[in-house]
Amino acid sequence: SRHYRIAVIPGDGIGKEVVPEGLRALEAVSKRFGCTFAFDQFAFASCDYFLEHGVMMPDDWKDQIGGHDAIFFGAVGWPESVPDHVSLWGSLIQFRREFDQYVNLRPVKLMPGVPSPLAGREPGDIDFYVVRENTEGEYSSIGGRIFPGTEREVVVQETVMTRVGVDRILKFAFELAQRREKKHLTSATKSNGIAITMPYWDERVEDMARAYPDVRWDKYHIDILTAHFVQHPDWFDVVVASNLFGDILSDLGPACAGTIGIAPAANINPERDFPSLFEPVHGSAPDIAGQGIANPVGQIWSAALMLDHLGERQAASAIVAAIETVLAQPRLRTRDLGGPLGTVDCGAAIAQALLEAR
Ligand code: NAD
Ligand code: MN
Repeated sequence: SRHYRIAVIPGDGIGKEVVPEGLRALEAVSKRFGCTFAFDQFAFASCDYFLEHGVMMPDDWKDQIGGHDAIFFGAVGWPESVPDHVSLWGSLIQFRREFDQYVNLRPVKLMPGVPSPLAGREPGDIDFYVVRENTEGEYSSIGGRIFPGTEREVVVQETVMTRVGVDRILKFAFELAQRREKKHLTSATKSNGIAITMPYWDERVEDMARAYPDVRWDKYHIDILTAHFVQHPDWFDVVVASNLFGDILSDLGPACAGTIGIAPAANINPERDFPSLFEPVHGSAPDIAGQGIANPVGQIWSAALMLDHLGERQAASAIVAAIETVLAQPRLRTRDLGGPLGTVDCGAAIAQALLEAR
């Protein structure tokens, strides 16, 4: 059915200001494309909740949101009253782990009206996805320290790759590439220097590629790949990477496309055993919270990623197109992009563009 139950978690700071604009875009989508939504609001996973209850989330949080079709998330963090590691580990990291959201997906797309720090690049030149493995690889807790504090001190941390873990992220990336026009996949590697795990990664890519003969693929070592992001962003379509390399590329990519202030992100469990989570890349922005000036585009764009995941591909493209229509007009931009509008007016303009487009 085309009815979706969405767990809405605004979180902290500007999360509470931009999430309603994401919902406004989804309401407009509902009118135009006929799918329907039930939005269930949750106050936990916020620092306000922590200050009242002493924990970021209730014991039964998994029961409360685990049955929803997706989680629409704002931002968490209020460092003035709760340390960031407490707010982050008590919420987002729990979602990622418990809901096995092993794909971190970020579109990198240069939008009209957003100046690229890369000279001479126009909208259309930069349009790709970074697919980051989100659960294993370099971010393991296997290792240790011996002879601490002495000259004989030794520190070791292992990289862990499992066949299941590598194959499932590659499968997601190849399938994404297959759905795209260019059907091109790039793998981030370092098999010339990291001589056990990265050659294994390469081997799995080669093996997986056989199942997707229509996808053209290549690989680059991570060092030169970062240079290519800056010098040849037009080369890329879908870029897949292990946890650490993906972490770096998923910040570098959006930065090449202008600003992380409008960038969206998805944490996905492709099997749909658990809900996936959609959020802007930015945080709670305490410095501008409460002023009604936050740019809602990152949140609205993350609604498009959510629709894509739910199978509402047309509606997802329509949201991205509406964002492009609005950003192309200087008078419809928010202040961070040199425009005059506040959060609500910019969100309303995007919803309006969604309803008017045919
Ligand atoms: P931030 O993204 O909140 O802000 C960085 C800068 O960008 C600020 O100057 C802010 O005003 C500006 N900015 C961010 N989003 C904007 C928007 N939509 N429109 C206009 N300007 C925008 O990062 P930070 O200041 O490092 O972190 C603040 C808090 O957010 C911390 O508690 C941090 O832990 C948290 N955080 C949460 C997430 C998340 O929920 N996924 C991500 C990053 C940071
Ligand atoms: Mn990061």
